[in-house]
Amino acid sequence: MDLHLKDKVFVVTGGSKGIGEAISRAIINEGGIVVIASRSVNETQALVQEFEKKGSKSHGILGDLQEPGQCKKVISKTIELFGRLDGIVNNAGLNDGAGLEAGPEAFRKSLEVNLHHYYDLVHFALPHLKKSKGAIVNISSKVALTGQGGTSGYAAAKGAQLGLTREWAAALLPFSIRVNAILPAEVMTPLYRKWLNTFSDPDAKETKIISKIPLEKRMTTSEEIAAMAVFLLSDVSSHTTGQFMIPDGGYVHLDRSLT
Ligand code: NAP
Repeated sequence: MDLHLKDKVFVVTGGSKGIGEAISRAIINEGGIVVIASRSVNETQALVQEFEKKGSKSHGILGDLQEPGQCKKVISKTIELFGRLDGIVNNAGLNDGAGLEAGPEAFRKSLEVNLHHYYDLVHFALPHLKKSKGAIVNISSKVALTGQGGTSGYAAAKGAQLGLTREWAAALLPFSIRVNAILPAEVMTPLYRKWLNTFSDPDAKETKIISKIPLEKRMTTSEEIAAMAVFLLSDVSSHTTGQFMIPDGGYVHLDRSLT
């Protein structure tokens, strides 16, 4: 199926590692142009070089998206380089474990890390998305629906991203800008590996989690999340907006007696 992404321009935050990297690769494989906004210097430079070698167009914009000025720069640089913007994938984030005991400052910091730049980037992108009737994909998390324990800031941010998905889908109806969310559950990425390593026996923890994933008793791959993302960015999903997509092998919703 042709997703019609050829020569269209997409910003992917955190687009050089884990799920974001897979989304960047999927956009490139569909003939699109990707602008990677990330603070991961080596990974971003290596991925952009790899894309350039293949003859694909991409660009890396390095910096911390917690700064609103950085989000503004990402959009202005994208327009300067490519002259258009067809979609945003808000993906950068991290489960920082700011729980109830961590205190007000840690909670606020967690919202900065995980939430504010989702808004800031879309705010600065809006005039360009209106022109292109672009699409927005917010990468949230199963934690927004299930909780996890010990991570108030991350859970609040991931829940807020779902609220913003519906709010923006409603607000942007007049411009035919579609807004959807993807809620990954268990996907092996550098971030996930780091989290597993906080347990005394990471392998045992991983085996236990995998045993509870109903479909094929395996983790979702980054590529499976990316496939959903490019579908939502493309006009193949032209009547899908305000939706929460949960490609997780049935982890969140299927009958527990099955595992
Ligand atoms: P990852 O492996 O850590 O990749 C995320 C990338 O985003 C990293 O390069 C990271 O840089 C970058 N980043 C984070 N915050 C940033 C900021 N403020 N400014 C610029 N770059 C920033 O993470 P992932 O597992 O792929 O997660 C991607 C998204 O999926 C996140 O929103 C996460 O909450 C969500 N998610 C993941 C899972 C899972 O199972 N993996 C499950 C549910 C939801 P640094 O390495 O420097 O932090």
